[in-house]
Amino acid sequence: MPQYADLVKPELLTQPVYQPGKPIDDVARELGLDPDGILKLASNENPLGASPKATAAAKAAIDQVQLYPDGGCYALKQILALKFDLAAEQFIVGNGSNEVLELLGHAFIDKGDEAVMGKGAFIVYKLVTLLFGGVPIEIPMADFRHDLKAMVAAITDRTKIVFLPCPDNPSGTANTESETLAFIDSLPDHVIFVFDEAYAEYQDKPIDLRPLIRNGRKIVCTRTFSKIYGLAGLRIGYGYADAELIQLLNRAREPFNANSVAQAAAIAALQDESFVEECRSANQAGLAQLQSGLQSLNIEYIESHANFVTAKIGGGGAAFEALQKEGVIVRPLAPYGMAEWIRISIGRPEENERALACLNSFLNS
Ligand SMILES: *Cc1c(COP(=O)(O)O)cnc(C)c1O
Repeated sequence: MPQYADLVKPELLTQPVYQPGKPIDDVARELGLDPDGILKLASNENPLGASPKATAAAKAAIDQVQLYPDGGCYALKQILALKFDLAAEQFIVGNGSNEVLELLGHAFIDKGDEAVMGKGAFIVYKLVTLLFGGVPIEIPMADFRHDLKAMVAAITDRTKIVFLPCPDNPSGTANTESETLAFIDSLPDHVIFVFDEAYAEYQDKPIDLRPLIRNGRKIVCTRTFSKIYGLAGLRIGYGYADAELIQLLNRAREPFNANSVAQAAAIAALQDESFVEECRSANQAGLAQLQSGLQSLNIEYIESHANFVTAKIGGGGAAFEALQKEGVIVRPLAPYGMAEWIRISIGRPEENERALACLNSFLNS
């Protein structure tokens, strides 16, 4: 009798599984801790929560959950179009920007196709490529930054997609605007450039690729409501590109991929610019606090452009375990080939203090 393993698509048997940040309830259950006392700094979530306007809109939308959502996300795309000065047809909304990345795989990665990415960059690029039978071409980072020259040199006739996050997760590094523009300029015509802007709103001046998109370059930018907008639990993100490319992604999209509560919250979140501004400046202060705290503890870290700091703690797994016992969840980075490192999301000031105190006692233990 054939086993499932004989029936399944072969690439699925070797497909790596994404390891998420550990949920608070899991830690509470395993260690017998009060969930209310647990601090999760493991998934780059917003320590200030979401805009009250967004949560109010979500609560109001709950009253209509018997209805299917607007699969075309009309209202959300109208607001995005205004905000970005692009056409509504240039946007696709996903169940998190993760889904937009997956749709790119659906649409463009066939067996044996190559996708070029940084080694140790956000792992979803590799997972998506493998899932569709593609070949991830992983280019070593140079001083934790994407080595754009080496990435261009790795492009072949089989390359379909080049992924670049800015800033990157988990390194927190960002390539400069001029480097990035020169890089895009040197990409051949058959390559689609995916620019992952999950942390763009934390930048004072994010790199703007809209002029290139308007000029017909094969570029897809992805953004999310999970990070600065604080809506990670609702799963909603988007991509913008040339309308023709968006139309192709829509063919691979399931009809109701973005739920109605998430759409309502996202619309309200986009309109609350002062909340975003508050989160951006709180993050800058928290970043300074965490980085100077690490410095005082003599812990090496990578200068970050995002809402987390990646630090070399010796045994990343041991530090993760030790902090977890103290009720602080951070992210061990062994899955990224950085076994000595942990990633700490920036929390509120007292939360950053608590994380630093735990690191201090770990180092002294
Ligand atoms: C968090 C993150 C995302 C996407 O998250 P979603 O919740 O799926 O929108 C994408 N790229 C990077 C680099 C991230 O860190």
